[in-house]
Amino acid sequence: MGNPLLSDWTGPFALPPFAEIRDEDFAPAFEAALAEARANVAKIAENPAAPDFANTIDALELSEEALNRVAGVFYNLSSADSTPAREALMRDLAPKMAAYSSEVTMNKALWARIDTLWQNRDSLGLGAEQARVLDLYHKMFLRAGAGLDGDQARRMAAIKERLAVLSTSFSQNLLGDERDWSRPLSPEDLEGLPDFVIEAATEAGRERGADGPVLTLNRSLIVPFLQFSPKRELRRIAYEAWTSRCANGDGHDNIANVTEILALREERAHLLGFRNFAEFKLDDEMARKPETVRDLLMQVWGPAKRKAEADAARLTELMRADGLNGELEPWDWRYYSEKRRVAEQAFDEAEVKPYLSLDAMIGAVFDTAHRLFDLDFRELPGPFYHPDVRGWEITRKGAHVAVFLGDYFARTSKRSGAWETEFRPQKKLGGDQKTIVMNVCNFTKGSPCLLSYDDARTLFHEFGHALHQMLSDVTYPLISGTNVARDFVELPSQLYEHWMEVPEVLEKHARHYKTGAPMPKALLDKVLAAATYDQGFATVEYIASALVDLDLHDGPAPADPMAKQAEILASIGMPHAIRMRHATPHFSHVFSGDGYSSGYYSYMWSEVMDADAFEAFREAGSAFDPATAKSLEDNILSKGGSAPADQLWLAFRGKQPGVEALLRGRGLLDPV
Ligand SMILES: [Zn+2]
Repeated sequence: MGNPLLSDWTGPFALPPFAEIRDEDFAPAFEAALAEARANVAKIAENPAAPDFANTIDALELSEEALNRVAGVFYNLSSADSTPAREALMRDLAPKMAAYSSEVTMNKALWARIDTLWQNRDSLGLGAEQARVLDLYHKMFLRAGAGLDGDQARRMAAIKERLAVLSTSFSQNLLGDERDWSRPLSPEDLEGLPDFVIEAATEAGRERGADGPVLTLNRSLIVPFLQFSPKRELRRIAYEAWTSRCANGDGHDNIANVTEILALREERAHLLGFRNFAEFKLDDEMARKPETVRDLLMQVWGPAKRKAEADAARLTELMRADGLNGELEPWDWRYYSEKRRVAEQAFDEAEVKPYLSLDAMIGAVFDTAHRLFDLDFRELPGPFYHPDVRGWEITRKGAHVAVFLGDYFARTSKRSGAWETEFRPQKKLGGDQKTIVMNVCNFTKGSPCLLSYDDARTLFHEFGHALHQMLSDVTYPLISGTNVARDFVELPSQLYEHWMEVPEVLEKHARHYKTGAPMPKALLDKVLAAATYDQGFATVEYIASALVDLDLHDGPAPADPMAKQAEILASIGMPHAIRMRHATPHFSHVFSGDGYSSGYYSYMWSEVMDADAFEAFREAGSAFDPATAKSLEDNILSKGGSAPADQLWLAFRGKQPGVEALLRGRGLLDPV
């Protein structure tokens, strides 16, 4: 029997033949697919014919078809349903895939063809999509260093290699500090803690071979500990340990790593002709310039800080009532905020869950997509790669649109978190291909599975990404679906969350799983109001991190990043009782890799747009206004990356987004 990963997939919707694929098929399939991709790329580069769009760009777009198919299955299964064999292969593949990709971008003959086309782009008679794709290829190669020669090219390669080593060391130090720190909790230390925190601490103790509960630096344990423990000194010790991860001058200290990473990033930007790393990084994003990002963050900073200061005064009163003098400290905030939340707006999560069964919320997500985009859903029989995975065919007026898989339940073979991914993208080049798209979540299985409000919001969020894939209507895979700037990609997903706040959606779909009764109005109101609680704090700790990330990269690399961090925080008047959400020595978004360096602002950038985009529906008079939904699809969801994000935005909204809607959404407009 041939390798099922490499044969033609002839089953329904050309789904991967999951049942036939064995773990030992992956390595030879990768080998064959990589060899095929290399041969294809060599053929393009060495083609004796003069470069034209078809023999260079079209050919490149089709050169990795087999590799994409194999990788699509492998990486999706490795994340959602791993095995030791898959993990081992993943480690083995990382350097091979990286080597392949730098081979392609460093191929001089290939670069010469792309550059020739790009220089002559105005005389090639290209359509808008083609011009965009050529532009993106040109930029991608340039940013990877394809335009450098001799010493500069060698230096670039050395920098990339050294950065990979440093960021791995950064991550391992962080893991090390989180693994090594723990503190036994005596029976008195458990006072005031709810059962779920005690259980988590007991489980953490068991994992570490302790003979009782322990506190660790894991966010999902330490945050509730800080919320609920009345032991102030213990809170202080725990908080200081948590916020000084990798800054203790020991073997796990990351400050030297950070200093060197910042210097190398700056040098890399200089080699490519940019003034600094932030300018290099943002050149490829919707925001374009560091000043634009700083402007946005500072517009939100003022109202957020005022709200946080008003909240701090209220929390200080609660602390005084406990007989404590002195200032409200960072380790006090969560504790008094939790007390205040219970006093002011308590509802029991357990009261809400029976109305939010997974099936009911899938119904809400699909019904919303039906009302907005006329999509219909028909469940497919399966099985897929795991018995828990469900699948649907999505159609519009009877025509096939996509296959959607939902893998909703937590299991030990799945990594944590929730994400959207695809087995193949929508494209038309080389034959019309519809997407096979998937949402993966980590909900606790139950009968039935009952979601928290946050879980249900996650379901909407990930389906928003899925819509961006399904409704994509482009020719080239490079610009299909979610292949857009990082600071634009969360727009469709965060926007889709807003439909959960439309009262009629939960009124219709949030029904008690036993009785079918709708959620009582008073409870629904409380649930919807809770969304803005303590947003002053959350916004301040987030923006402080985003600004430090930006400023560390927007200027000469600092010799002392911690002094620079202190200087930045002082300049914005950081409130005493709040610290950065992630401080520099353990800011893994920024230093564990390149993804979010100078890019931590992206979450808020997208939120400005999603709040303002939803405002367009409000202005039209209905959350389901058909003309606005059509414009959203025509101008954004169907377009992928076929035009720069700011153009797509303007086509939809007609004006730049303002921060008003975001401030209102976070409850920061009237900060008292
Ligand atoms: Zn997302």
